[in-house]
Amino acid sequence: MVKDNPVTRKKHSFFYNWGSVTTIIPDIRNQELAARATWFIKMRWLAILACAVGAVIATTDIVPADVNPVDFVITIAFLSFTNLLYSKIGHNLFGDKTRRRELQRLLLWQMFGDFTALSFLTYSLGCIETPMGSLFMAHIILATLLFSRWQSLMIAAAGWVYASAPLMLELAGIIPVQSIFKSEFREAVSHDFGITLGFVLASGGVYLFCWYLVSEISSSLKLRERQLEDAHQMMIKIDKEKTQSTLLATHELKAPFAAIKSYVYTLRDGYCGQLPEKAQAVVTRIGNRCDQITDRITDIIHLSNLRTLVVTEMNLVSVNLISVLCEEAGEGALIGESRKIKIINLVENHPPVHIMGSYEHLKTLFSNLIQNAINYSPDNIGRVVVSVETSPGKAEVAVQDNGIGIPKDALDKIFNDHFRSKNAVAHHAGGTGLGLSIVKEIVVLHGASIQVESIVGRGSSFTVRFDTIEVGPVNE
Ligand code: ADP
Repeated sequence: MVKDNPVTRKKHSFFYNWGSVTTIIPDIRNQELAARATWFIKMRWLAILACAVGAVIATTDIVPADVNPVDFVITIAFLSFTNLLYSKIGHNLFGDKTRRRELQRLLLWQMFGDFTALSFLTYSLGCIETPMGSLFMAHIILATLLFSRWQSLMIAAAGWVYASAPLMLELAGIIPVQSIFKSEFREAVSHDFGITLGFVLASGGVYLFCWYLVSEISSSLKLRERQLEDAHQMMIKIDKEKTQSTLLATHELKAPFAAIKSYVYTLRDGYCGQLPEKAQAVVTRIGNRCDQITDRITDIIHLSNLRTLVVTEMNLVSVNLISVLCEEAGEGALIGESRKIKIINLVENHPPVHIMGSYEHLKTLFSNLIQNAINYSPDNIGRVVVSVETSPGKAEVAVQDNGIGIPKDALDKIFNDHFRSKNAVAHHAGGTGLGLSIVKEIVVLHGASIQVESIVGRGSSFTVRFDTIEVGPVNE
């Protein structure tokens, strides 16, 4: 048992959330879309601020322009309302990495909302007298990055229609002519069909040119991105093949090794006659080593199997966590018996908690956590508590012990392959350092997370958080 050292008895905690393994590629793209949609919302608040400044300036004589501050107020109200709406819709979307289409639709709505506001401001700031056209251009450039080539061309065309609409409607006499300059310049251009048409066509040409330029660049960027994605997929495939060949090699070792083990046991247990005392001791040690190697082979095979699995191949079903925990706590009680370590099962009478998962893998997960808790607890006074807490849509399973604890500098390494802390090696020589790697893979495959809290010399607590589908009695 470790000495009770007050200096080291500080609680350390680590939260692990490795995310999902298989959705990594779509995640990157969707995260980019979500980031852009959020950025758009933030920029719009800045634009609203700029409109507020414009409204204040319009009420003064600082600028020799005739602008109605009410137009700015209308724009502020419209943009604030739509931006709040986008934030509300986006709030549900940004965390969900699978909803690419919805994210694109949200971005499209943002574009058209902005076009409406810009078109209105273009009109109130005198159409050709204002540089508002550049803001349409900014949207077109963004569209080429976020949408397909043809979609962005449609958006560029829509931008052009929105930008030219006020001028054309003025020319057609449908809306009154608006000008910020009470000058002859405005008079000269306002009713001249040639100048208006020339301006509209020229701005259309500039929009088209910009769209072409940026879409060419973004097409080659997207091509590179796709090549990177392909290379990444290829790496995953190679890695999977490598793991599978390790698996095969280890599997092939298993059968001859099992034979060696059974011969050693035959010798040890006296089926070939009584061995001299020294030979008996050596054969017993060989037997113990055989057990360790068997554990290692089993762990390597298990881990390799998990690493070649992807969520889509996992065949997730509704699993009652409580029955898994009761089964594993029962097995733990048998293992702990010889060392008088008590397993306290607080979930025995808990109503069923259902999650989407794999029964066998969940059994392995909790068996590893409970066995570790037993392995690293002191004989006679060791206590391992298994408990569960639920909240709407969530379940937290905790495996707590009063064992040796995990030093702070080891906390971030315990899920690495073959890692064993020094105090663990001193307390329990037989570990493989692969149990928590297996736990990690199972946690990831279930989209769960795990938190470890520990005080050296006092104990550790491993808490696994799942999304639940049902809590309470169900008809199975
Ligand atoms: P093993 O137990 O075979 O060494 P694991 O991968 O299961 O391998 O655990 C890795 C390391 O994490 C252990 O060697 C030990 O240092 C630490 N550890 C895991 N569980 C506990 C626990 N309940 N109490 C103390 N240390 C633990």
